[in-house]
Amino acid sequence: MTSTREIFSSRTETLNKYLKLDQKGSIMAEYVWVDANGDTRSKSRTLPEKDYKPEDLPVWNFDGSSTEQAPGDNSDVYLRPCAIYPDPFRGSPNIIVLAECWNADGTPNKFNFRHECNKVMEAYADHEPWFGLEQEYTLLDHDDKPFGWPTGGYPAPQGPYYCGVGSGKVVMRDIVDSHYKACLYAGIHISGTNAEVMMSQWEYQVGPCVGIGMGDELWISRFILARVAEDFGIKVSFHPKPMRGEWNGAGLHSNFSTKEMRVEGGMKHIEDALKKLEPHHVECIKEYGEDNDQRLTGRHETGSIDQFTYGVANRGCSIRIPRETAAKGYGYFEDRRPASNADPYRVTKILMTSIFGKV
Ligand code: ADP
Ligand code: MN
Ligand code: MN
Ligand code: MN
Ligand code: MN
Repeated sequence: MTSTREIFSSRTETLNKYLKLDQKGSIMAEYVWVDANGDTRSKSRTLPEKDYKPEDLPVWNFDGSSTEQAPGDNSDVYLRPCAIYPDPFRGSPNIIVLAECWNADGTPNKFNFRHECNKVMEAYADHEPWFGLEQEYTLLDHDDKPFGWPTGGYPAPQGPYYCGVGSGKVVMRDIVDSHYKACLYAGIHISGTNAEVMMSQWEYQVGPCVGIGMGDELWISRFILARVAEDFGIKVSFHPKPMRGEWNGAGLHSNFSTKEMRVEGGMKHIEDALKKLEPHHVECIKEYGEDNDQRLTGRHETGSIDQFTYGVANRGCSIRIPRETAAKGYGYFEDRRPASNADPYRVTKILMTSIFGKV
């Protein structure tokens, strides 16, 4: 009998044989977009080998009726290229192309949150907004059970898993490291990774990124994660509360600073920003992901969804001011409210407009 693992490794060898073949002056461009459910979708096309900028790439289209992004009788959705990354799956000179979705009548598609976000980032570029997002996620097996959890039961209570090392504490580190490397290859500013509090839950951080670059890089890092996990035959869940009960949920902690906050006297600008954010709490929560009410209970290192709170080094608040920022008197703050499934364009936009005003 041949084991699944043996079949996989022989297939990988075969794939590698083809990946090495000469492309004869053509490249494969994988166009990636965000769909109606907040997942990524992609399709490929051949282009002549050249050093491309987004504006040099052809606008393309897809059947929006198959993704619930357009009605059947007017189904073309246009893909407008906006950023290019080296493709870690096919290798150089192939590329990944991040694209915005546009309707045939020239309006942005309903699920194109990048367009409005970009306007805000351009309007307030002088503040030099930096973001750092902490993407938490859970790896699921084919029964939608977190990996390593016993069938029909629960693992030992939380404690050994966070930053855990060793069998029985962490699972699927090969996926985590493959994703890390693939992100570096693609030029994503991935800043680190760690095992999370719930078994089979992991985190990576992307940032600091400037302005619109944050949403762009996070979406491509999610695409890379889904694609790497596909290679391993594992599912990724971005649900904010994958397991009910005494298990931590999954968030997208959003670290933020402006030029003014990052220099001496910056704490005053941080406090001003938090005062501006407070009356926008409900509006922010609407932008911070689906099913976040299951996660923001005020327990398991979260603040309550009903209340805006902040504190130094306090992980039970909406906003945490890092100890180091408080000690130095300048730095950044962490908005702990966004859920793991939040759209980073919506999160970074509402932070900016709450603090600086709508554009
Ligand atoms: P935590 O202690 O909450 O787990 P992490 O180390 O996981 O924090 O993530 C911190 C994130 O904050 C990183 O993505 C990092 O790049 C980002 N970051 C650091 N400094 C700044 C800053 N001045 N402005 C915005 N983001 C920052
Ligand atoms: Mn077709
Ligand atoms: Mn973290
Ligand atoms: Mn975390
Ligand atoms: Mn955090």
